[in-house]
Amino acid sequence: MYNVKSMDSNEFIDDGEVLSSIAEAKKLAQQKTEIDRILAKARECKGLSHREVAVLLEIDDDETLNMMYKIAREIKEKIYGKRIVLFAPLYLSNYCVNNCQYCGYKCANKIGRHKLTQQELREEVRALEAMGHKRLLLEAGEDDEKCPIEYILECIQTIYNEQFQNGAIRRVNVDIAATTVENYRKLKDAKIGTYILFQETYHKSTYLALHSGPKRNYEWHTEAMDRAMHGGIDDVGIGSLYGLYDYHYETVALMMHSEHLEAVYGVGPHTISFPRLLPAEGIDYDSFPLVKDRDFKKVVATIRLAVPYTGMIVSTREGIDFRKELLEIGISQMSAGSCVGVGGYAERKTVDETGVEEKPQFYLADHRKPVDVIKWLVRDGYVPSYCTACYRQGRTGDRFMPLARSGQIGNFCLPNALLTFEEYLKDYADDELKDLGKELIECEIQNVPDEKRRAMAVDYLNRIRSGERDLRF
Ligand code: SF4
Ligand code: SF4
Repeated sequence: MYNVKSMDSNEFIDDGEVLSSIAEAKKLAQQKTEIDRILAKARECKGLSHREVAVLLEIDDDETLNMMYKIAREIKEKIYGKRIVLFAPLYLSNYCVNNCQYCGYKCANKIGRHKLTQQELREEVRALEAMGHKRLLLEAGEDDEKCPIEYILECIQTIYNEQFQNGAIRRVNVDIAATTVENYRKLKDAKIGTYILFQETYHKSTYLALHSGPKRNYEWHTEAMDRAMHGGIDDVGIGSLYGLYDYHYETVALMMHSEHLEAVYGVGPHTISFPRLLPAEGIDYDSFPLVKDRDFKKVVATIRLAVPYTGMIVSTREGIDFRKELLEIGISQMSAGSCVGVGGYAERKTVDETGVEEKPQFYLADHRKPVDVIKWLVRDGYVPSYCTACYRQGRTGDRFMPLARSGQIGNFCLPNALLTFEEYLKDYADDELKDLGKELIECEIQNVPDEKRRAMAVDYLNRIRSGERDLRF
């Protein structure tokens, strides 16, 4: 029985409610007045319910799709402006006791396995800092013996402590297996930013068929964000892995998950990620119900309409041109220069102790270095941002959302993006990017809405040019 406030995942993501939303949507999507009503509501940044999302997912004509994309772009620019937040994933360990059918790290794969030593981790962090990164997403396979929570906590400390030249990692987000309230509390105390966990698939029987090992416990996995909230982590990130099951089902259920968090804790997910299944070692890729570009783009735009204030993330799983299309219709964060192997940034020799070659978790589509991604963004009029200010200023959870809803966040995001971009130009850019960047900052600083804030930002920019770092709003 559907109950948005239930603490049982079978009730807050009730299978019957998902199916009935999709069935009803097929009929409602025939009515132009209903589509117009939903789009008008979205345009006012009022958000959409999972039932309304189901209706938009039924749209298949180019004219209405283009209208959706136009509204998604308007919403994104209104709330986030032109800034795109950049981050990099950092893989700590590829030991895993699970056998997820879609993952190159599954335990049945006879690949080399490795866990970074603290010294290797420091080398990774230095390599990432030398690229200009300030925000990381830690990743590790699930293995309580080889990769316990104490190891993760030690790694977080090592990362925050490792400062190299002007480099510093200022925000560590964490994507590790579902765990206990006590462990979430430890992660909170270690000063993580967002806790991210992909649901993979919300369709329970598919979930059970694709998993073996501890992760096969659907309820434990799906209720992880509730435990994270009880552990004090109020910025959580959700997402499903598109390509495991029907995208209508996944998207409606994803929205129900978001509504559950909002109903129970007063704050929805801080971010939603959009991973799409990729080929990987030992994976029968073509046997999965892969999501086509056209449908995936519709999913991204629909979610931008549904949760206007939520950060939306796309990774280097997507190719260059398609990432550009997704940026236009709602994505606000993306990874750049990613390696999805253990020790990949410092170019660690990827042969394990027994001589077996290590393999990445999956094969990426976009291999550009951050500097090339940044040039590409700037040429398209975006402002690359390494901002990590909100959580360091205590603007998390229910302290963040009112700022976003009132449109005030623009007075933080844009100046912070420009300050971190100026740092990047000083510390890491080549001459070509310095020229491009100078022009962009001069133009964009005029767009900071509040006059006093604008004047302060100009002062901060000058101080950064004189050598100060980490100035922020
Ligand atoms: Fe392990 Fe995660 Fe891969 Fe599953 S998806 S095999 S839990 S690393
Ligand atoms: Fe994110 Fe806050 Fe920085 Fe905006 S100001 S980019 S919301 S951390």
